[in-house]
Parts: sequence; structure tokens; C-alpha cells
Amino acid sequence: MINFTIGPVQTDLETQKIGAEQIPYFRTPEFSSVMKENESLMCQMFDAPDNSRVVFMTGSGTASMEGGVMNFFTQNDKVLVVNGGSFGHRLVELCQIHEIPFTEIHLEYGQPLTQDILIQFENKGYTGMLLQLCETSTGILYDMQMVGDFCKRNGIFLFVDAVSGFLADNFSMKQMHVNAAITGSQKALSLPPSMSFTVLDSEAQKRCVANKVKSMYFNYADYLRNGERGQTPFTPAVATLLQLNDKLKRIAQNGGVKYINGVIKQRAEYFRAKIKHLPFKMFTPENATSNCVTALLPATEGVSAYRIFEIIKDEYGIWVCPNGGELAEKVFRVGHIGNITEKEIVQLIAAFDDLLKRKLI
Ligand SMILES: *Cc1c(COP(=O)(O)O)cnc(C)c1O
Repeated sequence: MINFTIGPVQTDLETQKIGAEQIPYFRTPEFSSVMKENESLMCQMFDAPDNSRVVFMTGSGTASMEGGVMNFFTQNDKVLVVNGGSFGHRLVELCQIHEIPFTEIHLEYGQPLTQDILIQFENKGYTGMLLQLCETSTGILYDMQMVGDFCKRNGIFLFVDAVSGFLADNFSMKQMHVNAAITGSQKALSLPPSMSFTVLDSEAQKRCVANKVKSMYFNYADYLRNGERGQTPFTPAVATLLQLNDKLKRIAQNGGVKYINGVIKQRAEYFRAKIKHLPFKMFTPENATSNCVTALLPATEGVSAYRIFEIIKDEYGIWVCPNGGELAEKVFRVGHIGNITEKEIVQLIAAFDDLLKRKLI
């Protein structure tokens, strides 16, 4: 099978090799030094301010979304949550569950967040803001510089779910005034699912330490304390952390984030240029689309997006990414992250061409 989903994505051989080895014991100085290196490389790649730290969470991206909501905010906060798709909706649900007072900015799915929308919330006493960098369910890329400038002007703590956007889209905690941001192992880092990572600036760390979190596993103050000696409070997904170390070092040695950003961007542009003759419409405006993923609307009357996913899977041996919920029949997605070759992209487009010939799209 060829995998064009948005996670888990195709891993490379080096990552697979580490995954085939025995798992080492981890309460050792040797493993601690790997973790210290992971922390410093991760901060570098998020372009985080000095003295930033990383919480290494064993749990998928949602664990770090929830951990962030629990540790950075309290009932005394008043936060803005952007809901422009299923991941934004998840942030809304997390604020509800943890009783964080919030205002939802509900966007029409596939549409960008604009200055006109943000202006309504200027000087209104908000203390926090939560949103995705890339809302993976629609492929929209939010203008994080605009959001960060708004937050800075208003003294708002900014927590960004960059789970899918990290490495695919331009992102800098420093420049965009982001206090905390997360990513996950199975997205552009192209590791197996199992872990997620939060980069915290000093303000975010302060909030964790001051906050009395009603949880043992999600107590970030405990992670920060243990992290000082390169450890985690509980047994982490050790193999993933070794794969992470190898991956981060390879990225650093091969042109850094800028280079990998460029590769993913080029891949997305190549794909989008090569499907112009097909009866698909882009679900998001071209100038506000993430490099991570292309969301497509079949334009032919009566063609189901979900059915395309099924046929491509069963008859062509390729996974594209179906949508859930209200978009299931309308939209499917093609991911551009992971270890994907041009030959594989050509194969996917040939499969679409064949569907066209068979009058299935
Ligand atoms: C994949 C993803 C997550 C995490 O999902 P999990 O299934 O919990 O790993 C969170 N946010 C975004 C934007 C994502 O793309």
C-alpha cells in the first residue's frame, strides 16, 4: 500500500531500523543525554525563545491538546477558541470538559480566520487563545503572524496545535509570539504514532508550575522537574524517542527545518499543479492552504468523496484520507507529509486518471 494520509505517514528506512531493535532500559545517564539533545533540537526547530522547555508526552496528539488545556488555563481564564474543523471542535470540547471559560470563534469550514473577525475580540479581557496552525480536517492554514500579533497586543497567552503544521508550514514561536505549541510523532516527523511534544516558553512553564492540575499523568510541573535530568515521570515510548533523536539530528544536518519545509511545499505544489485537469475543487482558498494536506471536493454531481477513498484503497492499493462527520461524503484529502516519492505521487494521479476514464469521478 502507498500511504497519502496525514498520519500515521510513511516512515523512512532509518526509522524502521531503530524500531526493529530491542528497547533499552531508560533510567540511565545515556538515555538522559539523548533526551537532553531531543529537547534542545526540538526548541531549535520550533524557533522557541531562550529557556524554553519540552514536555515529552506518551500519548497521541490529543493527549497534548488536553494536557495543554489542563496545565495552561484555569477557571479564572477567559479564552478564545477557533473552531474551523474537527480539530478546532476538539479544542472547544476540551475547554468544556475542563470548565475553562471560553468564546468560540466558529468559522465556516474551509474558510480562513481574518483580521475583521479578530478585531471584534480586541480589548475584551481575553487571557488565552487556542487554535491549530493547520486545521488538518480542511487543510486551512491560519495566519499565525496575524494571530500572534493580536495576542501580543492584548496580552493573550497563545497555545497552538501545530500537530500537522510543524515542519510542513512556516512556524516560529518567537516571531509569532506563541507561548506553547505541540506536534505529534506520526505527522511530519514521520515516526510511529505514540508520542506528542509540547514546547513551552517561560510564561507557559510558569503557568504549569502555578496551576494545581487534578491529574497525575498530565501534571506538566512533574514533567518539567523530571526533564531537568533528562527523564520523564513515567515510562515513555522509548523507541519513539530514539527514533525522534535520529530524525531530529538528520533534519539538523540536512538543511534544517527550512529545507524540509521546502521539500513538503514543493511536493504539495507539484501535486496541486498536476491535478488541475481532474474534476476536483480545492476545499480551501489557494493562498490559505497548508503544505501539509490538500482537501478536495469531487465536482461531479453524485460522486461521493468517501467512495473515492474506498475504490482507491481496494482497487489501486493507495490510501488517501477520508473525512469524518458532515464532510465525509463531500471531501477527501491527500497528505504531503512523510516519506513520499515523486513516483508515488505520479501513481496516485494515474489512479485518479483511471477513475476518470471509468467515469467514476
Ligand atoms: C493529527 C492531529 C492531532 C492529533 O490527533 P491524534 O489522533 O490524537 O494523534 C491534533 N491536531 C491536529 C491538527 C492533527 O492534525
